[in-house]
Formats: sequence, C-alpha cells, structure tokens
Amino acid sequence: MSKDIATPARTKEILKKYGFSFKKSLGQNFLIDTNVLHRIVDHAEVGEDTGVIEIGPGIGALTEQLAKRAKKVVAFEIDQRLLPILSDTLSPYPNVKIIHEDILKADVKSVMEEEFSECKEVMVVANLPYYVTTPIIMKLLEDKLPLKGIVVMLQKEVADRIAANASTKEYGSLSIAIQYYTEAKTVMVVPKTVFVPQPNVDSAVIRLLKRDKPAAEMLDEAFFFELMKASFAQRRKTLMNNLLQFYPHGRAVKEEIEQKLLDSGIDPKRRGESLTVEEFAKVSDVLLPLLK
Ligand code: SAM
Repeated sequence: MSKDIATPARTKEILKKYGFSFKKSLGQNFLIDTNVLHRIVDHAEVGEDTGVIEIGPGIGALTEQLAKRAKKVVAFEIDQRLLPILSDTLSPYPNVKIIHEDILKADVKSVMEEEFSECKEVMVVANLPYYVTTPIIMKLLEDKLPLKGIVVMLQKEVADRIAANASTKEYGSLSIAIQYYTEAKTVMVVPKTVFVPQPNVDSAVIRLLKRDKPAAEMLDEAFFFELMKASFAQRRKTLMNNLLQFYPHGRAVKEEIEQKLLDSGIDPKRRGESLTVEEFAKVSDVLLPLLK
C-alpha cells in the first residue's frame, strides 16, 4: 500500500501531479501530520460501526485515516478541482463517498438517511474551512440531525469562545448557542506547522457531544435565542440596558422588566456574560409575556 496522503512528501507529490493551487477564499489549509490526524480520529472515537460525515476532504488526508477505522465516510467538498484528485488518492477505500456540494446548502438529513442505515452512530469529523466555521457548526446543530457528536479542527480563538464558562471574557452568545445543544471541550491545541499552507491563526480541535436533551427548558426557544443574543449586544452594558434596546418601547416597560427580573432572582445590574444557559432560560420565560 502507498504512503499516507498526509506526509509532507506525498502531499507535495499529489499537489504537483495535479498542478493544484490553494484557494485562500475556500479556507484551504491541508494537514500534513499523520500523528495529528490519528489523534483527531481517536478523540472522535471512530469505530467499525461508526458512520462519519466529513466537511472539506481536500486531497483526502483526514478522509483516509477515517476510512481505515469507520464503517463509512461521506465527505462534502465544494471545490470541483479536488474531485479527480480524491478519486485517485482515495481509490483504495471503497467505504468513502464524496459529494460535490457546499455543506451549507446540503440536505444533510436526507444524506444521513440514505447513507448510514447500517451504522450504529454518526459523527461529524473535519478540519473545517475557517471562513465558515461557525455557520457550519450552527447548521449541523440547528438542523437537529441525529448525530452523536462533532469533532472538528478550527481557529483556537473560536474553540475558546465555544467552550467558555460564564463570567469569562470568551463567554458569549456562541458559547451558549453551542453548549445548549452539546457538551463542549477543547481536546487539542495544534501548531501552524502541521498545515500547508500555514494558516495565520492558531488552531485547536474541539469535541462537541450532543446532549440527550438541550441544556435548559424554556417556553419559547426562538425567543430565548433572540433575547440571549440581545443581552450580549453591548458587552460592557448591564443586562437591563441591553434589554431596553431590545424592546422597541424599552423605556415604557422599564419598570416591568426590572420587576420581572427581580422576581426571578436575577439582578438587572448583572452583565449578560455572567448569566448561565439556565438563567437565560428563566429570563426569557419571565419576559415572554411582555412581547405578547
Ligand atoms: N480535510 C483536508 C485536510 O485536513 O487536509 C482539507 C481541510 S481544508 C481546511 C478545508 C476544505 O474545505 C477544503 O478542501 C475546501 O475546499 C473545503 N470547503 C470550503 N468551503 C466548503 C463548503 N462550504 N462546503 C464544503 N467544503 C468546503
């Protein structure tokens, strides 16, 4: 069998053979370190009954390592130029299917139904294109797909925000939106040197394990998200001041908002960044009637 795709020499050889030039606009930074790839697959706990969805296979570096351990890998790749390369590099792996599509436009639910009926569980594993990290993760979670979890490489700064606890400077609407659906943990910090070309930012691998049910219950999920985002609109302002901006006639209902917050045990002078998911759920429930 030929050498792993993700060695510096083999990657160089493949890129040269096809005259491939990287597109920065598509976030093309390929992994050239098999050790890092093995650790990503380990963290995703990919086994012989696991189905894997990969986003952006590139020339197949991660796909190959996934294919060696998973039952099946389905990879979405937006760049047409990579398709002939992938069918060459991944030809030894019959359990891989490449779909030429933008993941943000794909009907992932139907693909899962069609492709993974023989798998016990499905994980998303990817080295994400950094220009669309957050929209991709949010799409996978908001579509409420039957996934076990998501293990992805992304910008370290974004991983820090996703996994942040309340009352830290990294904590914000992204932490809450993702922790609402998953248990989030940064499992690896990765140096720039394991990519070609090297990205401008530091990278990390985050593991998001889907919760059986969301982290908090509330009367109206859409309102919870709207209100939570509004509470971080201006980070240095108090919860109360952000809420006054959120309501079109904020000033007119100021006392009512204040009273409802106090009744639910939340000090209106607190900042959004100090509220947990559960506390935001409580606030959204007490303030919901004000909208109706
Ligand atoms: N998995 C490969 C690796 O680790 O070496 C490549 C990772 S590279 C960071 C990101 C890949 O995502 C590229 O192959 C790029 O063409 C692809 N990509 C970018 N935007 C995409 C999108 N919206 N949908 C699917 N693939 C995308």
